[in-house]
Amino acid sequence: MPRTRTQNVDAAQWHPNGGSLGTTDLTAPGAQIFGANVFSPSIQRSRLPKAVFKRLQECLDSGQALDPELADNVATAMKEWALERGATHYCHWFQPLTGSTAEKHDSFFNPVGDGTAIAEFSGKELIQGEPDASSFPTGGIRATFEARGYTAWDPSSPAFLLENPNGALLAIPTAFASWTGEALDNKIPLLRSMDALSQAATKAVGLLGDDQVAKVFTTVGAEQEYFLIDERYYFERPDLVTTGRTLFGAKPPKGHELDDHYFGSIPERVLAFMLEAEQELAKLGVPIKTRHNEVAPGQYEVAPIFENSNIGADHQHLTMQVLQNVARRYGLVCLMHEKPFAGVNGSGKHNNWSMGTDTGSNLLEPGATPHENLQFLFFCSAVIQAVDKHQALLRASIAGVGQDHRLGANEAPPAIISIFLGAELEKVYTAIESGSGDAATPQAYLGLGTAVLPQLPKHGGDRNRTSPFAFTGNKFEFRALGSSQPLSLPNTVLNTIVAEAIDALSSGVSALVESGTTLEEAVLEVVKGVWSEHKRIVFNGDGYSDEWHAEAEGRGLLNLKTTPDALPHLISEQTVSVFSKYEVLSERELESRYEVSVEQYTAKLNIEGETAAHIARTQLLPAAIKHLNLLVANSEGIGTLRSEITGLIDELVEAIFALEKANVEHPHGVDVLDAALYMRDTVVPAMDRTREVADQLEGIVADDLWPLPKYSEILFIK
Ligand code: ADP
Ligand code: MG
Repeated sequence: MPRTRTQNVDAAQWHPNGGSLGTTDLTAPGAQIFGANVFSPSIQRSRLPKAVFKRLQECLDSGQALDPELADNVATAMKEWALERGATHYCHWFQPLTGSTAEKHDSFFNPVGDGTAIAEFSGKELIQGEPDASSFPTGGIRATFEARGYTAWDPSSPAFLLENPNGALLAIPTAFASWTGEALDNKIPLLRSMDALSQAATKAVGLLGDDQVAKVFTTVGAEQEYFLIDERYYFERPDLVTTGRTLFGAKPPKGHELDDHYFGSIPERVLAFMLEAEQELAKLGVPIKTRHNEVAPGQYEVAPIFENSNIGADHQHLTMQVLQNVARRYGLVCLMHEKPFAGVNGSGKHNNWSMGTDTGSNLLEPGATPHENLQFLFFCSAVIQAVDKHQALLRASIAGVGQDHRLGANEAPPAIISIFLGAELEKVYTAIESGSGDAATPQAYLGLGTAVLPQLPKHGGDRNRTSPFAFTGNKFEFRALGSSQPLSLPNTVLNTIVAEAIDALSSGVSALVESGTTLEEAVLEVVKGVWSEHKRIVFNGDGYSDEWHAEAEGRGLLNLKTTPDALPHLISEQTVSVFSKYEVLSERELESRYEVSVEQYTAKLNIEGETAAHIARTQLLPAAIKHLNLLVANSEGIGTLRSEITGLIDELVEAIFALEKANVEHPHGVDVLDAALYMRDTVVPAMDRTREVADQLEGIVADDLWPLPKYSEILFIK
């Protein structure tokens, strides 16, 4: 079938009033929409008997388990609310180790024997479900013959309704564990790590003199990058359909050199999509705040207002899901792969992270008073210590096959973890360290030992796009996540390692105070110690430069270039020790995560290798041969052209054979890491070689014979 080239897209095909499946009224005022599909605390208050609502809140605040009667009451109210809004089914919505979400739907209705059915939903069904644990990856924790696993309601993340033109589904956020109590998901460890951090930080805040704080929450707000392409091109590219990225495709003559996409207005069809996606998200209570074009043509970004890490991580899953679903209503496909197009900027996710108290203050906010600044320096130093000590673990927490194309390339942060503090804050640390600042530096005050800390820089003007971990005014931004990645693991790691560092710093301060030092001096002393031991992790320069790679090595920082380099750090002695100490993940749970991640890397590359070989042999090679025949049929005077393509065809055949051989020869029954290394060292180079020849052919073979849509079409038709 001949391809439809640069046709204009028929507006009626995508406009909401012209055939869209959308269920959103795009004209309704935002206030009526926000949270409309969430069984939120305010809905709970209005629907539950006063005493029940109060008890539920108490249980949530204290982290106690719900008693069966309370659960029954909540379940009844939840069911009635959902039925009124058109729900027929409910599901426990959970996050298995696959990196996406899973759900098993059950109907509310039960037949009662007289030919009718009644809607039933008890506290028991709310609290616990029993999906087949063997269908999800467990890294060996559950053998298939002992498949019992269960989902447990997470009352701290409100249930929500997923709408469909033909009905609605009540989704109940849940944790997923094996019958023996091991976490089989990404939510349980995140919740455990939030508890660990809360305990450590609450204690530290108390030590620093504030006894009002009972709980500390970690917060997250993720900036999500993605591509939108017309679906007709998507379906003409088996590589995109099967692997999420293009395995072939020559660089287009025009990339993002002109920056016209970045600074241009948002194309109309895209804006229509964004408006609908944002309204869908608003109904689900996801507080989307900003949207804009990104650097590459066809690339965009969306960011929410931050929330506590558990809800923020759930909402991030919903954001990815809604963007992908709504795109289809507009004839678009939303690509979340880290590197859908070679030679064009890839997509990442910036994980903005901080810690907030139940009394409303952000512990990473430099304050106006000396006490606030002392507190800020304490927590900021804890982060510096944690990131330096566990740089390999942080790197491992963002590893993945798509990331290998991006990290370390000249567009995304390097594979070396370092912290950007900004010049002003670094100056404060340097002054504390030397104890001898000039009049322009804070040490002029600090030196008096009176802790009259200066006003620290707020939202320092300088920015550094090349840093993987940047302080941005009142939060740290872990900028190296992949666009398709859930937030749970990186945040679990951050919370746990920072909890450990906070405890270490607290002990240091306590010991000094006990020996008679004033609190202020003790904190400054500890901060000074952190700085001299861990300042090597701080780097404000250009992370893309070759000099940095050399310097980082000199500083002893790790440069873990690929996924198989990074993942073993998930089970290193140091990782096992911190995760066990804080009871976030046991050694067995860590091993299962490691195995699942390594196996996913191998499986994904195996699929890529086979898809590439298949496309090259059955689509690209025949096109090249047809082109050669065309030349043969018109052979007068074009011998050079013929020998050019014959040469390339020979090279392509050779490359395909080598790739096919690499695909079939991959080792079985070996250690998971060895299988991954084989993929990286044998299959990937064979794929790269095939692509290199094929991309040259793309520039030679007659346009109407070339079977794949080209980058210049895919990226620029909006
Ligand atoms: P920047 O321009 O520095 O990236 P923005 O204000 O645009 O800052 O925020 C970017 C993201 O950071 C948003 O998603 C926002 O919600 C999030 N964010 C802001 N403050 C915090 C915080 N205290 N904790 C976690 N995330 C935060
Ligand atoms: Mg940002």
